[in-house]
Amino acid sequence: MLLFSEAAAVFSEIEKRSGRLEMTDLLAALLKKAEGAEIGKLTYLLQGMLAPPYEGIDLGVGERFAIEAIAASAGYSKKEVEAHYKKSGDLGDTAEALIGKKKQTALSTTEMGVTYVYDAMLQIAKASGPGSQEMKIKLLTELLNNASPLEGRFLVRFVLGRLRLGVGDPTIIDALSVAHVGDKSLREPLERAYNVCSDLGYVAKVFYESPERIEKFTVQPFKPLMPALAERLSTPKEIIERLKKCAVEMKYDGFRLQCHKSGERVELYSRRLDRMTAMFPDVVDAIKGVKAKELIFEGEALAYDSAKKRYYPFQQTMRRRRKHGIEEASKEFPLNLFVFDVLYADGRDMTNEPYAKRRALVEKLFKGKILQPSQALVVDSTKKLKEIFDESLSEGLEGIMAKDLAAPYTAGKRKFAWIKLKKSYGKAVDTIDGVVVGYYLGHGARAEFEFGGLLIAVYNPERGKLETVAKIGSGFSEAEMVELEKMLEEIKAARPPEELDYRIEPEFWVEPKYVVEVAFDDITQSPTHTCAMQDGKGYALRFPRLVRIRTDKGVREITTSSEVAEMYELQRSKG
Ligand code: AMP
Repeated sequence: MLLFSEAAAVFSEIEKRSGRLEMTDLLAALLKKAEGAEIGKLTYLLQGMLAPPYEGIDLGVGERFAIEAIAASAGYSKKEVEAHYKKSGDLGDTAEALIGKKKQTALSTTEMGVTYVYDAMLQIAKASGPGSQEMKIKLLTELLNNASPLEGRFLVRFVLGRLRLGVGDPTIIDALSVAHVGDKSLREPLERAYNVCSDLGYVAKVFYESPERIEKFTVQPFKPLMPALAERLSTPKEIIERLKKCAVEMKYDGFRLQCHKSGERVELYSRRLDRMTAMFPDVVDAIKGVKAKELIFEGEALAYDSAKKRYYPFQQTMRRRRKHGIEEASKEFPLNLFVFDVLYADGRDMTNEPYAKRRALVEKLFKGKILQPSQALVVDSTKKLKEIFDESLSEGLEGIMAKDLAAPYTAGKRKFAWIKLKKSYGKAVDTIDGVVVGYYLGHGARAEFEFGGLLIAVYNPERGKLETVAKIGSGFSEAEMVELEKMLEEIKAARPPEELDYRIEPEFWVEPKYVVEVAFDDITQSPTHTCAMQDGKGYALRFPRLVRIRTDKGVREITTSSEVAEMYELQRSKG
């Protein structure tokens, strides 16, 4: 049995290190100690979660609950715990300190295995209905009663969703390979397996049972794939030079849905792989009518104004992503789903088939009014591609997606299998999606909105860090300022996000939660921003402005630092 205390000791070591190699070795040694039944649970704990996000399992423990549990377990008053937290700024540290100076000791303590802790956490998450709050506090108090100060630190951070060990999924994958075969040679099949099921705990479990199964891992219904991502180029000419003959599809400006069906069961997943089934009964019904027993496919959902024969703007479409008034909304803004890929059909994993073959299946399966194939044409000239691009803009769409006819579906990867060409915003060549890490208050004319601007970061997966790339002060409508201020106020943080690398400080830090699309004129190098920083200079957006708040994208899906670097090179190569 792997003890949670052993895991906590390794967590604490990992926190002190920053080198990926060192972390991999520490993790591998820990993973090696886990038994078959523990490996999946340990993997989830390392990721700071209990299950993949699409399972919708949320601990639902707020600071207030954690404070009560710490107080009850260590024998302090809530006021004393709060006072300590005010100084430490981290409830995990507070738990550690106060458990270390317990005023009361439990009669007997149990040695906690990793499984015990995981199962207790799951019980906390699943407590619901009347009395569930007391239940959650009670369960957490029991865990803390059995915990050493160090265990207490990590238990509390975990339940609050703030474990943040700084180990990314790639490091865990490397460590799994090292733990099992002594080197990183199985990284690639492990990574592919993870990309096609988005469930690292499950992958770890299968891997420990039989490494061969990882090599032959296939997609399966109700385990959503990480969405394939598109590269960007800025002219039709570049696209044709790169792909030669290719399929050009309309780029619809709605939200991406990944649809899974097996028999009567249908589930819909968002781009960030949250389960969205309940929001779109109209789409679910349409899927039930498709002639295939088992199916996984993807499309872009858009609200269509049949009176004006035009797509509603993005904001209107997004009103369908709601928890209440679903029936009314589905009548007011009926959705069309433009299907652009099939990944699995009646027992066949299609992800390794070429685009052309998958596309043929899309056209065969989807002929309805609600579910229809995305518009696509095969072209081999710049002129033809440009025509389709112009047509897409005149229809109020966002641009086009060019697709390599021979390429497989590259789950979770940005490959030149798909290339996007988007309309420009004013002088802007392109946009990035970044996460808000801080904000400024308004001064002068804007003071009445109490809102002045945003500090934006992109993601550097190689370093597992967020890196700042822009400070936006314009592009906000009054309504947006009010909304942003309210949203950000709620996630204000005493410290910068753990994983952020920064050189400038905003007036307020926030948890990295909201993704925004940012337009800009060009990219420069600057000592104030840390994006892909080298020799004291990072990349920065010039004249950045807010395009919109992207509620459909998660922090994991924002633009990466290397993409910004590529955009800079692209811009330089054009003089
Ligand atoms: P972007 O978010 O700008 O990187 O563009 C990629 C997104 O475009 C995908 O995630 C889809 O949501 C959306 N999209 C719209 N139309 C298509 C299409 N025909 N093929 C693939 N993706 C599309």
